[in-house]
Amino acid sequence: MKNSEELFERAKLVAPGGVHSPVRSFSSVGGTPIFFKSAKGAHLYDVDGKEYIDFCLSFGPLILGHRDDEIEEVVKETVSTAWSFGACEPYSLELAEFIVNEIPEVEKIRFVNSGTEAVMSALRVARAATGREKVLKFDGCYHGHLDSLLVKSGSGLAGEASSDSAGISKNQYQDTLVLKLDDESSVEKLFQEHGNEIACLAIEPLPANYGLLIQRKSFIESIIKIAKKNGTIVLFDEVISGFRVSMKGMTEHFEEKPDLITYGKIIGGGFPVGAYAGRKDLMDLVAPAGPVYQAGTLSGNPIGMRAGLAVLKKLKEKHLHIELANKTAQFTNRLEKLINEHSEKQISIARFASIFWIHEKTNSTIRKIDDIPETHKENFAKLFHKFLANGIYLAPSGYEVGFFSTAHNDRIMDRFFEKAEKALR
Ligand SMILES: *Cc1c(COP(=O)(O)O)cnc(C)c1O
Repeated sequence: MKNSEELFERAKLVAPGGVHSPVRSFSSVGGTPIFFKSAKGAHLYDVDGKEYIDFCLSFGPLILGHRDDEIEEVVKETVSTAWSFGACEPYSLELAEFIVNEIPEVEKIRFVNSGTEAVMSALRVARAATGREKVLKFDGCYHGHLDSLLVKSGSGLAGEASSDSAGISKNQYQDTLVLKLDDESSVEKLFQEHGNEIACLAIEPLPANYGLLIQRKSFIESIIKIAKKNGTIVLFDEVISGFRVSMKGMTEHFEEKPDLITYGKIIGGGFPVGAYAGRKDLMDLVAPAGPVYQAGTLSGNPIGMRAGLAVLKKLKEKHLHIELANKTAQFTNRLEKLINEHSEKQISIARFASIFWIHEKTNSTIRKIDDIPETHKENFAKLFHKFLANGIYLAPSGYEVGFFSTAHNDRIMDRFFEKAEKALR
C-alpha cells in the first residue's frame, strides 16, 4: 500500500486524476488505487509484492488470463519479427479470414486500434449507407467515448439526449436519440415519428458496461425488426461480448441479425485492437473501396493481430467457452451463497457465460439502469474493499462487471474461497 500511495501522489501531478482512464482511480469505490507491477495467469502483483486474484482482467480482454504461455510465445516471436509495417502483411489477413469464416454476419472486416474507434467508424458507414443523420442508442449501453454517443436520456421528450460529458458540442449529439432498454413499445413509437431519419440503431446485445443488464430475447429481436422495416442499419456493439460469450458472440442468440458489428477487447489478445465488420455491401463503402474515409497508422499491427488470432484459435480448438461458462456458474453460485451467509444484505450475481455482476438482491431481473437499487454503489464499495484487503481484485466500480478466465482453475478457486471467507467474516 505504501508504494502505491507514493506513486499515486506522483501520478496526480502529471496525469489528470493520476490515471489514463477514469475507473482506475478508485473514484467509484474510494481509497488509493493499487499500482500493479506484473501479472501472470489469474494473478496480479502490486508494487509492494502483494498477490491478488484478478477478476477485472483488464476489463475483459484477457479471457485466457494474463500472459498465457502459448500466446506469450507468439508475442515473443512477433516482437523479434516486426513491430509495425504500415504496409500490407499477412497477419491481419489471417485474423480477418479466421473471423470471416467463423461468424456468418461478418462478410468483411476492418481493423482499428480501439473499441471507440470501431464504433465511431461503424456509425460513419451507417450514415453513408442510408444518407440519414440520426442514431438511436440506449441508456446504460456504453459504446466508447466518441462525442455523439457519450450521451444519456434528456429530461424532456422521449428520445431526447443530453450530454454525459463536458466539452461536447451540441451539434455532435443533436442527432443522437436515447431510449431506455427493455421497452420495445418506445422504440416502435420513436420509429413511427422518426423512422425515415434514423441511420443506425446501436446496441450492446449484452449490455455489460453499467452492470450486466441481460436483455429479453424478444426485446432485441423486435427492435431489430422495427429498425430493418424502417431501413435503419442495426449495429451490434460486441466490443465486450464478442469472443467472450462464444466464438460467434451474441449474434447466434437471436433469430434477427445485425448489419454491422464492432469488436475490441478479446480480439487483440490483450493488445490494442478494435474492428468493425458486417455486410459486404456496407463494408465496401469504406475507403479505398468506397467513399467513407477511415485510416490508422498502427492499424493491423502484427503483435495485436497475431496475439488475437492465437487467442481465438485456442478458444475454438479447445472448445474453451463452454467449460469457462460452467466454471463461472459454479463460482458465482458458490460466491452468492457465501456472501449471503455472512451478510444481512442479500445479494444476487447476474451471469452470462463468463461475465458476472454482483448486485443487491432484487425481486426481478435488472434489465435497465432504473432498476439498479440506489444503495448499490455504496454496498459494492464495502465488498470491494473487504476483498481487496484479502488479495482479491474486482473491477473498482459497482457498475463494471467481473470476468472469469481459463486461468482461474480449481486450485485458485479453493484459494479464492478461503480468502473470500476471511474477508466476509
Ligand atoms: C470497452 C467498450 C467500448 C470501448 O472500447 P475502448 O477500446 O475502450 O475504446 C465500446 N463498446 C463496448 C460495448 C465496450 O465494452
